[in-house]
Amino acid sequence: MTTTTHPLVTEAHRLADDLLAPSAQRVDQDVVPRSHIEAVRRSGLLGVSAPGESGGAGAPDRVAREVAEILAGACCSTWFVQTQHHTPVRLLAKAEPGLAVRERLLRPLATGELLAGIAYAHVRSHPRVPVRATVERGGVRFDGTVPWYTGWGLNDLMLLAGVTDADEVVFAFADAREQPGLRASAPMRLVALTAARTVSLTLDGLWVPEESVALRTPREEFARVDVPRSTNTSPAVFGLGYAALDLLGAAPAERGAADALRARLDEVRERAYALADHPVPHEHVEERLALRTRAYELRRAATTAAVVAGGGRATSVDSPAQRIAREAVFLLIQGQTATVREAHLAALASV
Ligand SMILES: Cc1cc2nc3c(=O)[nH]c(=O)nc-3n(C[C@H](O)[C@H](O)[C@H](O)COP(=O)(O)OP(=O)(O)OC[C@H]3O[C@@H](n4cnc5c(N)ncnc54)[C@H](O)[C@@H]3O)c2cc1C
Repeated sequence: MTTTTHPLVTEAHRLADDLLAPSAQRVDQDVVPRSHIEAVRRSGLLGVSAPGESGGAGAPDRVAREVAEILAGACCSTWFVQTQHHTPVRLLAKAEPGLAVRERLLRPLATGELLAGIAYAHVRSHPRVPVRATVERGGVRFDGTVPWYTGWGLNDLMLLAGVTDADEVVFAFADAREQPGLRASAPMRLVALTAARTVSLTLDGLWVPEESVALRTPREEFARVDVPRSTNTSPAVFGLGYAALDLLGAAPAERGAADALRARLDEVRERAYALADHPVPHEHVEERLALRTRAYELRRAATTAAVVAGGGRATSVDSPAQRIAREAVFLLIQGQTATVREAHLAALASV
């Protein structure tokens, strides 16, 4: 990994080394503790990409990506809860100054006073409309089912999306708690990241005032921006890959194998991030997908090697190698769109 002196990268390492990594095995078998969330709030990392004038750090994307790698490699569950927050922050930062919800929420979100989750991946399942939005009584009413909502009971707000009859996506903020029109399932038990408290939400006439609406955009326009973005490689894939290689390389006999894999992961990372920074997101899509797939292959090699090197011990629930390998299973589908799914399956079919 490249080294950088940005203070938030230093802060991420401190948080990872002092708190997240030492308790990752325990958290994996339980729930992300409130004390972890409080430490993340205090760290300033929640405002990494928020504008400086709103209380954030206004750091470049390369810093946000490095922070994400460090957190994901240390405790994927904690990383996943906090990563949701950055989408609402970016959306509000891009909104018109003066927009009521921007004025009310951008600063508390940027400073970590409030933590937000997201409930919008279902918009990708067009032509199905899992959540319908309807203009009603000077606000918006939401009906339907949000299949996945992470951070329930840990975060304060959710950025919720629904699609209108006119095929427009409405994004609005709501309190992340049970209320009239909003019920949550029990937290799901999953192969990994059960600790991140993912639920599904039943919306039955949840009403939010117009002042809480952050964006209205034609669904086709949403897809035009969303699909290319999902073709980039998530920094968490590199974060888990490096965490696995650290485990592998800790055994002197395996250091050579770890170094060889690390060099290849470094190279893919550099190229993937260069494309993520490319100013036109819908250009070089094939190359982005090829790099994404290659990153998954190398990550798979790294996490598998850590298990193989660990031998029988690696199958114990106390072993970080099996935890990281399970977390990697989750990353296979995180943010998956039809385009990404197709490319990944095609690559797997030709192995
Ligand atoms: C543990 C967990 C937590 C999550 N937390 C959140 C959260 O907090 N907020 C949030 O918004 N999202 C969340 N998600 C959703 C996640 O980001 C992905 O969008 C989601 O997992 C994609 O899988 P899916 O099962 O929902 O959709 P799928 O139904 O599998 O669809 C994925 C994509 O593939 C396409 N597709 C599906 N089947 C086919 C097919 N046969 N042929 C062609 N295309 C197809 C779909 O159109 C869609 O674009 C979470 C997911 C998980 C597993």
